[in-house]
Amino acid sequence: MSEAAERLAEVRDAIASAAKRAQRRADDICLIAVSKTHDAEAIRPLIAAGQRHFGENRVQEAAAKWPELREAAPDIVLHLIGQLQSNKADDAVVLFDVIHSVDRSSLVQALARACNKAGKQPRLFVQVNIGDEAQKGGCATADLPALLAEAKEAGLAIEGLMAIPPADVEPAPYFALLDELAERHGLPQRSMGMSGDFETAVMLGATHVRVGTALFGARG
Ligand SMILES: *Cc1c(COP(=O)(O)O)cnc(C)c1O
Repeated sequence: MSEAAERLAEVRDAIASAAKRAQRRADDICLIAVSKTHDAEAIRPLIAAGQRHFGENRVQEAAAKWPELREAAPDIVLHLIGQLQSNKADDAVVLFDVIHSVDRSSLVQALARACNKAGKQPRLFVQVNIGDEAQKGGCATADLPALLAEAKEAGLAIEGLMAIPPADVEPAPYFALLDELAERHGLPQRSMGMSGDFETAVMLGATHVRVGTALFGARG
């Protein structure tokens, strides 16, 4: 087994045992391999090992790497997990299958226009600033109902919520809060949990975990 295949097996096992403890089905949790900053050589072994969902945080980096990598496996699903500038909405809609970072009114409008133009709509998540931290991306929790209403009005289907809890504190209460917000708004998907805390996130209802370091090693 390649080192990448071993790491992948370890992460998949950890997801499966967390799911089991929570009496959930492991198949209901989507593992997104966060490949930002890693080059094609680092990514190919994971594709060879069967990984299909990948996450990038920058449109330009993804546009440079993925068209060629995708030729290896046409069923690859590409997720945008980083902040999106409105002027990159057109490119993002064409390149990505799922966008996790819808977080403001101007972006909702830009995405609605981009989707009309492209004749396709990626699957969409609203990113919530779950700790209501100054300077952090994501919609303020208080603004979530209005943003969801605006997306609906604009014809965008929102499937779920995404969050990154505050650093250096116990993440569980924030995962529980995101789960509750999603439930309250009738949204089935929850994108939460990274290398350090994805098992906790799975126990608290994550449907998508975003794992970089545990699969690729430290970023340079
Ligand atoms: C980089 C990143 C991750 C992955 O973080 P790791 O700690 O390397 O697993 C997950 N989510 C987002 C939004 C990221 O930017």
